[in-house]
Amino acid sequence: MPTSCWCSYGTHEDININDLPDRVIDQSKLKIDNMAKVNDTSVFVREHLENPHKHDKLSLSEKKSYKNKIKRLLKQEDAVLVAHYYTEPYLQELAEETGGCVSDSLEMARFGKAHSASTLMVAGVRFMGETAKILSPEKRVLMPTLEATCSLDIGCPAEKFNDFCNTYPDHTVVVYANTSAAVKARADWVVTSSIALDVVDHLSSQGQEILWAPDKHLGSYVAKKTGAEMVLWDAACIVHDEFRASGVNDLKHLYPNAALLVHPESPAALVDMADMVGSTTQIIDAAKQMDNDVFIVGTDRGIFYKLQQQNPGKTFIAAPTGGAGATCNSCAYCPWMAMNGLDNLAAVLESTPEMNEVFVDSMLADRALTPLNRMLDFAKRMNAPVKKRA
Ligand code: SF4
Repeated sequence: MPTSCWCSYGTHEDININDLPDRVIDQSKLKIDNMAKVNDTSVFVREHLENPHKHDKLSLSEKKSYKNKIKRLLKQEDAVLVAHYYTEPYLQELAEETGGCVSDSLEMARFGKAHSASTLMVAGVRFMGETAKILSPEKRVLMPTLEATCSLDIGCPAEKFNDFCNTYPDHTVVVYANTSAAVKARADWVVTSSIALDVVDHLSSQGQEILWAPDKHLGSYVAKKTGAEMVLWDAACIVHDEFRASGVNDLKHLYPNAALLVHPESPAALVDMADMVGSTTQIIDAAKQMDNDVFIVGTDRGIFYKLQQQNPGKTFIAAPTGGAGATCNSCAYCPWMAMNGLDNLAAVLESTPEMNEVFVDSMLADRALTPLNRMLDFAKRMNAPVKKRA
């Protein structure tokens, strides 16, 4: 059924979101297991695109009124707001105005753990709430919605992942932070997008073979950079998977001096042509440090709030996705991050905290804590602040 989308090309009434792109996997160097396909995620994306949340349509005065209400409720509930870079600008602004945090998923969890508040309000997606709860089991962790998930999380169901691990019993299991608590509990290591290179390099130097999940693009990038023997799970982020090198080439003709900043969850063709490849925090740091005035950015457009805030004189352009007439599933805008709004955040604090509290089975949480702590200890030993690397 044709629908509209909010991508950088404007509204496309000609997009048929029921047509899924073929997912081509380069098997030249890597063993990629086809046990899990991410196509199921398209169903969830369709549902969201067809039923946009009403907070997308709030007026300026409504936003102001919600913000004032939330500020009062946060104090009343002894709560602090931690928001991801990919959430709406007004949520990021509110987190900053109220002494909360705007960051990547791990730093969100670390900030929440260190903060004195007894309640953490996590604006992001489900696995972020779970990680916050695992690191801060004594705290109440709330989310504006518990339905906001992630294509990487969906694309790596714990039971199938367990079977996959059992197929490679001698491999060291390394999973990305964008996974459920149950998948983390099955892992030897949890990694964030930039510490992944260092951890895998370290394990590979010890002669270990790696089983990697869930993001195949990040896994391929890490394998290529480190030369490690890796078996990859087959899933992708529906936002980064849509970026197209051909569209970026066209943009580069229009802006020849623009630097291309790319998240390694993007397809290899885009990563290969990037001036800088890195995590959200690294992209933000790079934009500050590089001399260019114009940047083409290959990650979720929510990051533009922070990029523009820290670089008011510079211009940031979203890297093109599938584009007009294509079967774009996300258009550089995570549909699940977009489920976080001022209205549902206020409603949870005001009337339904018990409906939106994150719980993690204590046995799973204990097991997931081990690979999480392994990463944190590794980062400490490297003297590599995870804040800069995640
Ligand atoms: S942007 Fe991609 S990796 Fe991040 S939450 Fe959305 S689907 Fe998951």
